[in-house]
This record gives sequence, structure tokens and C-alpha cells, in this order.
Amino acid sequence: MTSNRPARWRVLVVDDEPTQRLITTRLLERAGFDVDTADNGKAALARLAEYSYPLLITDWEMPEMDGVALCRAVRSAAVDGYVYTILVTSRHSTEHVVAGLQAGADDFLTKPVLEPELLARLNTGKRIVTLERSLRAANEDNRRLSITDPLTGAFNRRHLMAQLPAEIERSVRYAHALSLVMCDVDHFKRINDSHGHQAGDTVLAAVVAAIRANVRATDWVARYGGEEFVIVLPETRYANALAVAESLRLAMARLSIEHHGQVLSLTVSFGVTGWDAAVPAGSVVDDMVARCDAGLYESKAAGRNRVTGQRMDTPPSG
Ligand code: GH3
Ligand code: MG
Ligand code: MG
Ligand code: MG
Repeated sequence: MTSNRPARWRVLVVDDEPTQRLITTRLLERAGFDVDTADNGKAALARLAEYSYPLLITDWEMPEMDGVALCRAVRSAAVDGYVYTILVTSRHSTEHVVAGLQAGADDFLTKPVLEPELLARLNTGKRIVTLERSLRAANEDNRRLSITDPLTGAFNRRHLMAQLPAEIERSVRYAHALSLVMCDVDHFKRINDSHGHQAGDTVLAAVVAAIRANVRATDWVARYGGEEFVIVLPETRYANALAVAESLRLAMARLSIEHHGQVLSLTVSFGVTGWDAAVPAGSVVDDMVARCDAGLYESKAAGRNRVTGQRMDTPPSG
């Protein structure tokens, strides 16, 4: 059963004095927080590595690792999401306040800590963390949108051209196989002309869905142009890529795509390139794309609905 209650805020309370931990824990639980505790900085870091705590209240003086060292460690650690940190101390001097803030504390409280003030300061922390979360989510959305083709959900050409060099470099460095399949819908203009542009759009989305359904999870598809797609097949030998393209060709020819009561069908032409373990000289993006293009061109010239390949390395003899 799912609940509609908002998720409770989780706080990590770090203090070497058991009584102080207990008092703070009780107070925070009464105020509706989920509380975990640790008795020094090291123990706190171990907890932070396991769970995410958006809010951290830490004592300054503690054995093993004190609050300032903990703040520094939290800021340099790769933790998930922002940890809003309040440093609690009995020291009031400006130097100490400055040292704590420089170590990465967001806020300060001096002992004895008063309940309304602690809760008010935690509220500020919740506000900051909420803001940080929404910024991060918006950032992630933007990043996804910037690499995605909105019509088909495939990666866009920009992403392909940005990521393909990295795939090639990985393959070259470890002498692993890599293949590329390029495909183009046959006589796509006719689909647009006889059924309308929207029908064409539906077909393009269906083509990408069918490609995805027929390749491995590690293979990825990009929309290269209007009705032209590139499939990157990491760790895939040339001969296997030819087989993948052939099975895709058959899958495409079998598609029946519903659009406003009409059933549309299509064929697709393919160009394939790639290498096995031997790395070809000049194995660059442009060369791979050019060979796919050449294969695709040949498939079209030979009557469409076919697969033509050009391997980049020398085939093993025998
Ligand atoms: P060929 O078999 O030689 O590839 O012929 P074709 O008709 O598929 O190729 P052509 O390049 O002549 O036509 C491609 C058409 O694709 C023209 C263009 O209007 C259409 N197109 C490009 N992008 C989109 C799109 O996003 N949606 C729709 N519906 N059509 C598109
Ligand atoms: Mg202490
Ligand atoms: Mg076409
Ligand atoms: Mg085309």
C-alpha cells in the first residue's frame, strides 16, 4: 500500500555524549524527523556512505574525528544530494565561527541548544535542500532533453557525434569489437504523401521502438536525420552486426503500424560497418559513418530492403 504522506526528513545527529544524543533525538522525533545517530565524525561518515541524510547536526568536540573535520570530509565526499550541516559548539569566538564555516558548515548553534531555534534552523536547511533538489532535477531534465529526439525518444545526432568518439576510443584501447548500423526507411516520402505527415511521425516512432525491442540493452539508437537512424553496437563483431541488421530488416518488414484506423507497413535499408578485435588504422568517427553510408547507399541502389556491409578491419583468413 502506498501512502500519500510526504516523506519524512532524515537527520543524522552526531555527538559523543550519549545524553546529548538522546535529548536531541527525542526533540527531533517529536518534531516529525527520522533520526539516526553517530558518536563521532568517523562513525557519521560511515553512515553517510550508506544512507542519504539531507540534514546533519554535529557536535564540534568529539574523539577520533571532530565536527570540523567531519564538515570538511562531507564537503569533499561524493555524496548523493546536498547535506545541510549545522555545527553545534560551546565556542563563541569569531575565529571558531569562521573556521567552522570554512570547513563547510552551513550554520552554527551554540550550546545549550534551544528547541525553537534548532527547529527554525533545520527549517532553513529543509528550504535549502528542497531548492537544491529541484535545481538538480531541472538540470537532469534539461540534460536528458538536450540529448533526446522528442519524436522518437532516440538519442539525437548531437549525442551520437559526441559519444561515438568515446565508444571508439574504448574499443581501440581494449582491442574490443565495435560495430555501427545505419538504416533509412525506404520510400518514406510516399508514406507522408499518401497518409500525411502525422502518419509519418507515427511510423518513425514505431521504427525506433522496433529497433529497441530487437537490440541489446547496451546497444543504443540515435536519430541521424529525418528517417535515418544509427545504432551503436559496443562489443559486437562485424559478422554479428550484419546478423543484427538482417534481423532488424525482417522485423521492420513485419511491422503493422496502426494510424487512425489504417495499417501501415514499410521496409528499411541498412549499411553496416565494424571491426572485431583487430583495430583498423584510422578508426575514426568519420570513417565509420562514411562506410555505413556507403553500405546504405548500395542497399538503396540494389533495390532497398536489404543489408550491405563494409568491414573496417581485415577479415581473419581461413
Ligand atoms: P529512399 O527510399 O530513397 O530513402 O526514399 P525516401 O522517400 O525515404 O527518402 P527521401 O529522402 O526522399 O524522403 C525522406 C522524407 O522524410 C522527406 C521528409 O519530408 C521526411 N521527413 C523527415 N523528417 C520527418 C519527420 O520528422 N516526420 C515526418 N513525417 N517526415 C519526415
Ligand atoms: Mg562533544
Ligand atoms: Mg528514406
Ligand atoms: Mg533519408
